Amino acid sequence: MPLGLIRQGLRGRRRPRRAMPAAVPLRPRYDVVIIGAGGHGLAAAYYLAKDHGITDVAVLDKGWLGGGNTARNTAIIRSNYLTPEGVRFYDESVRLWRGLSGELDYNILHSERGHLTLAHNDASLRTMRWRAEVNKHLGVESEVVDRDELARICPPLDLDPGARFPILGALYHKPGAIARHDAVAWGYAIAAARRGVDIHQKTEVTGILTEKGRVTGVETTQGRIACAKVLQAVAGSSSLVAAMAGFRLPIRTVPLQACVTEPLKPFLDPIVVSGSLHVYVSQSARGELVMGGATDPYTLYAQRSTLEFKEGLAAPMLTLFPFLAEVRVLRQWAGLADMTPDFSPIMGPTPVRDYYIDAGWGTWGFKATPVSGKRMAETVASGRPPALIEPFALERFASFRQLGERGAASVGQ
Ligand SMILES: Cc1cc2nc3c(=O)[nH]c(=O)nc-3n(C[C@H](O)[C@H](O)[C@H](O)COP(=O)(O)OP(=O)(O)OC[C@H]3O[C@@H](n4cnc5c(N)ncnc54)[C@H](O)[C@@H]3O)c2cc1C
Repeated sequence: MPLGLIRQGLRGRRRPRRAMPAAVPLRPRYDVVIIGAGGHGLAAAYYLAKDHGITDVAVLDKGWLGGGNTARNTAIIRSNYLTPEGVRFYDESVRLWRGLSGELDYNILHSERGHLTLAHNDASLRTMRWRAEVNKHLGVESEVVDRDELARICPPLDLDPGARFPILGALYHKPGAIARHDAVAWGYAIAAARRGVDIHQKTEVTGILTEKGRVTGVETTQGRIACAKVLQAVAGSSSLVAAMAGFRLPIRTVPLQACVTEPLKPFLDPIVVSGSLHVYVSQSARGELVMGGATDPYTLYAQRSTLEFKEGLAAPMLTLFPFLAEVRVLRQWAGLADMTPDFSPIMGPTPVRDYYIDAGWGTWGFKATPVSGKRMAETVASGRPPALIEPFALERFASFRQLGERGAASVGQ
């Protein structure tokens, strides 16, 4: 038995450093109010306290900590995007993920597995070469691999050239990883609370108070709170909350579903994505296959699961891994994806002074949790977005400087 463990056992009573923050009374005023206790809001609160010494912060959530998309996603982390702005941004996140368990003193089960995007036709291969070149140019590990190399990286894949959707090759991104999503929310929450941040669950924001174009507070189901600055980080509810502040967002909210199978012995190391077949899969630390696909095709705020999704997922999945035919699906669920027209996020100032936004995370925002938290904290603290996130400003839709990531953002919609 490791000596450290014995020492810890003998030390007797120990302060539970990893306990969830206790509920505290809501105060009538804070320097900063963060709307949304998902990964993004909590990470921003943590970095505000840690990097900028701003601890008079309240994080408000209408539900419970991490109960939005943060604990509903399939936890894929990668930086093999298409635009230089996107690649740089997500690459910083990949680097932050690597040290996050240590930084938060909380095991988020971060595990680098490699990420494969399969090509079933020449057009996909061409896009993958393009992505690989952009990635390599910016120092991100990405390469196009042929079928022989694929057989070595992912032996269980059906690489039969006579298959219904034969696989020609893949984009291989070695830093591709997964992490335990709810642990990320808990880790950030505990670390932020330890530094003095207040977290208020079951506290819905119902109105935004402004005076002469500047935010002055928020109206909540628990009462009014005055504040100097607000950060909105509410993912699927982004356009609803922005409307309370009096401005519109180019965001459409659609359901995004996922499911897991019963646990299997570990057989699948890399994360496997097929954009053409609209499916992706990884194997979690406890053996479950975590699977997802395209977003639902209609705007909706309901988080219900459909049989249609499961059927649409099962058929292509069995084309890739025919031996999974008898495996049972254990759980299925949905979240709300806040989709932007260019498949890139919106971060930075808004038409309301001192009111900042972190939105448009669609199907791709989990991987950005550490970097968006860190850089949004910097934005809120200084009043100015750092160069890394400047291209993602809301204003880009007015000045036609969109960042087209459709080809790299997700499996299709
Ligand atoms: C099925 C699925 C799979 C996904 N897979 C991946 C993936 O593999 N990789 C990846 O990078 N991304 C993925 N995503 C996207 C990712 O989950 C999100 O982009 C990310 O979690 C957004 O985090 P957040 O903190 O901004 O939002 P959330 O975690 O949704 O938190 C927002 C919070 O705001 C609260 N809120 C809303 N309105 C109010 C209000 N009026 N007052 C107070 N609180 C309010 C909500 O209750 C919620 O807790 C997936 C999403 C889904 C649904």
